[in-house]
Amino acid sequence: MQHIRCYPLIMNKYNNAQHISLSRQAQHTIVADIFQRRSIEACGVLLGFVDKLENWQVEDAYPLPNIFNSPIYFEFDPADLLQVELTYPEKIIGVYHSHPTGFARASDTDRQNMQRVNVEEQIPWAWLIICGPFNQKTIPQQLSSTKSIAYHHFDSDGLQQVILRLSEPSSATTTET
Ligand SMILES: [Zn+2]
Repeated sequence: MQHIRCYPLIMNKYNNAQHISLSRQAQHTIVADIFQRRSIEACGVLLGFVDKLENWQVEDAYPLPNIFNSPIYFEFDPADLLQVELTYPEKIIGVYHSHPTGFARASDTDRQNMQRVNVEEQIPWAWLIICGPFNQKTIPQQLSSTKSIAYHHFDSDGLQQVILRLSEPSSATTTET
């Protein structure tokens, strides 16, 4: 079991101590997808597990078509989502999508979706938004921590930002703090 340490400075920024961790593989999949369809909202699901402390541990991501092909809106085809559920039973723990316009927070539509899924449907997904613009010539290998935001709509606290942990290259993991 991993040691989960609490960092008071970080915890004070948020009302909830839960976090979402993304493996390098997951980050790579998401970044590649976003840059491949950078003019529309790229979207997909996050695969992994929720640990005992209710943190989201994302091992990989699975891109799905945005059936609206829109730069300001995304929606899955329910059949596509069902197919992933059948292929990876119990592994879907969240959703990611991009904001190619650079809009740096959850839209009103996002908030409605988060509340509906997390509260009304009681599906404990985390929501990851990656904010553009995506005009770099070189596609990055990892997500930018300053341009990625994670959310969850908690029963008690309402919609909250969730602490995002992006794994470092393996050579850096020995660094103790
Ligand atoms: Zn959005």
